[in-house]
Amino acid sequence: MKNLQADVVIIGTGPAGLAASVEASEAGLKVIAFEKQNVSGGAANMGMGPLGIGTRHQQDQMVDIDVERAFKMFMEYTHWRVDANMVKKYFEASAGTIAWLEDLGVEFAGAYKYFPKSEATWHIVAVNGGIGRNGGAIMNKAMLDRAQENGAEFFYETPAKEILRDADGKICGVNAVDKDGEEIHVDCKAVVVATGGAGDSPEYMKECMGYTFGKDLFNIVIPGLKGEGIKMAIAAGAATTEMTVEKIYILPSSDMGVQSVPVVFMQPNLLVNVQGKRFINEEQMQNTTFTGNAIQIQKGAIGFSIIDSSIIKTYKKKGLDVVNFVHHVSDIDDFEQACQDIMNDPNNPDVVIADTLEELAEKCGIDVDNFLETVEEYNDMCDSQDTQFYKPQKFMKPIKKGPFYAGLFRPSGYGTLGGIKINENCEVLDDDWNVIPGFYAAGTDTCTIYGDSYMFLLPGNTMGYCVNTGRFAGQGVAEYCEE
Ligand SMILES: Cc1cc2nc3c(=O)[nH]c(=O)nc-3n(C[C@H](O)[C@H](O)[C@H](O)COP(=O)(O)OP(=O)(O)OC[C@H]3O[C@@H](n4cnc5c(N)ncnc54)[C@H](O)[C@@H]3O)c2cc1C
Repeated sequence: MKNLQADVVIIGTGPAGLAASVEASEAGLKVIAFEKQNVSGGAANMGMGPLGIGTRHQQDQMVDIDVERAFKMFMEYTHWRVDANMVKKYFEASAGTIAWLEDLGVEFAGAYKYFPKSEATWHIVAVNGGIGRNGGAIMNKAMLDRAQENGAEFFYETPAKEILRDADGKICGVNAVDKDGEEIHVDCKAVVVATGGAGDSPEYMKECMGYTFGKDLFNIVIPGLKGEGIKMAIAAGAATTEMTVEKIYILPSSDMGVQSVPVVFMQPNLLVNVQGKRFINEEQMQNTTFTGNAIQIQKGAIGFSIIDSSIIKTYKKKGLDVVNFVHHVSDIDDFEQACQDIMNDPNNPDVVIADTLEELAEKCGIDVDNFLETVEEYNDMCDSQDTQFYKPQKFMKPIKKGPFYAGLFRPSGYGTLGGIKINENCEVLDDDWNVIPGFYAAGTDTCTIYGDSYMFLLPGNTMGYCVNTGRFAGQGVAEYCEE
C-alpha cells in the first residue's frame, strides 16, 4: 500500500474534475486526481463545446440572449422542479467561464445554435481555427495543462474505490488501486466526485431508471462510466437523486458510420410507429431530446423515418432541409449505396429498402393498412397543410416514388444525469440535507437541473454544467481548506 498526502482528491477527470483541479490548484492546494482511463477528458473529448450566456461572442454576433431570458425559459421548461439557485448560479457564471477557458488558451469558433429553434448558447471550441469535431478534447487539454503547471498530480488507470470520513463525519481520505493492483491511500481534507455517471452500465440503468438495453434503450455506451462515483458517494453517506438519461435517438448500428445515412433520415420527413401512424410533428426531429422521448413511448420503442426517391433527388439537387454541426454533411451522394450496404448486412437492423410501400411496411413489421392510409393522408396534406401536427409546409414532401427507404430509429443517450445530491455550491448533502464537511461533487454525477428531459433549446448545456460546477466545487474546496 502506498500512502500519500493531499488537500483534495479529485475522482474522475472529465471537464468537471479538470475544472475543479484547476480551481483548487490555482488556490495553492495540493491536488491529487485519480482517473480510471489512461487519458483525462471523459465523454467531453467527443463533444464540441459548452454553454455560455452573455458572452463576448454573443455580443459580437448580435445574439440576443441574457441570463434573465435564459433563466425564465429554463424554469418554464422544467416546471420549477429543479434547483433554481443552481440554475441561476450556473447561468450567471457561464460567460465568465467561457472567458476563463479563453485565458487558459481555448479558442472558440463562436456561439451557435444546435438546431434552428434553439438559442445560440453553444460555444464550439475551434479546431484548426474553425468548426470541427472533438473540440471538447482541446478544452480538456487546456485545463489539464494548467492544473499540472500548478502542481496537480494525475494518476491514470487508477480508479478510486472508497471515500473515507473521520469520527466527526468529515472527509479524511480516499482509497484507489493503480494499474498494477497496488492500493493507494491518500489522507486528504476534501474530495470532489466527478465520475460522469453510469453511461456504460446497463445494470445501473435498469436498476435506477428501468431501461432494458437493446430493448427500450440503445445507448452509445461511454466506456468506463459505471456509476462508481455515485456508489462510492452513497456508501460515504451522500443522499441520492432521481436519475435520467440524456435522451437522443439513433440508428443503433449505423450512426457512427456513413454520415449521410443518419443525416438524411433525420430530416423532417414522415415518421411513423409500428402501428403505421404518425406520432410527432417531424419538425422536432432536430431536437433529439423531444424526438427521443416520443420514440421511447411508441410500441417497441421504435420510429420509422420514411423517404422516397424524389426526396433524395431533391436533397441532392437543392440541399437538405436542415443541417447541424453534429451530423454535418453537405454531400449525400453515397446515401443510396450506403443504405444498400447496411441493408445487406444481416447484423444491421437500421435500414430497409423496398420497391413498394406495402413491401416496405411488411419488411419493417409496420401495420400495412394503417401505413398506406397514413401515407395517403400525409401526401394529401403535402398539397394543403399539416392539419394533424402543424408541421410547416416547407417540410411537407410527399412519399410517392419508389424505391422507398425506412430508417429505424431507437432511443439512446449521451449518458446519464444525476445520482448524488448537492446544493448550489456543489457541497454533497446527506439524507437530512446537511452538508458533509469536505465532500463535493460536480458534473453529470450531480446534474438534475433538466427535470425529466434534457434541455436542448440552450445547447452546450451538459458540458456547460460540468465545467461550471467543477469550478464551483474547486472554489468551494479552496474556501473549505482555508477555513
Ligand atoms: C458523443 C458526445 C458528444 C457530446 N457533445 C457535447 C457538446 O458538444 N456539448 C455539451 O454540452 N455536452 C456534450 N456531451 C455531453 C458531455 O460531454 C458530458 O456531459 C460531460 O463530458 C460530462 O462531464 P463529467 O466531467 O461529468 O464526466 P465525464 O466527462 O464522463 O468524465 C468522467 C471521468 O471520470 C472517470 N471515472 C469514472 N469512474 C472513475 C473512478 N472510479 N475513478 C477515477 N475515475 C473515474 C471516467 O473515466 C471519466 O474520464 C457529449 C457527450 C457525448 C457522448
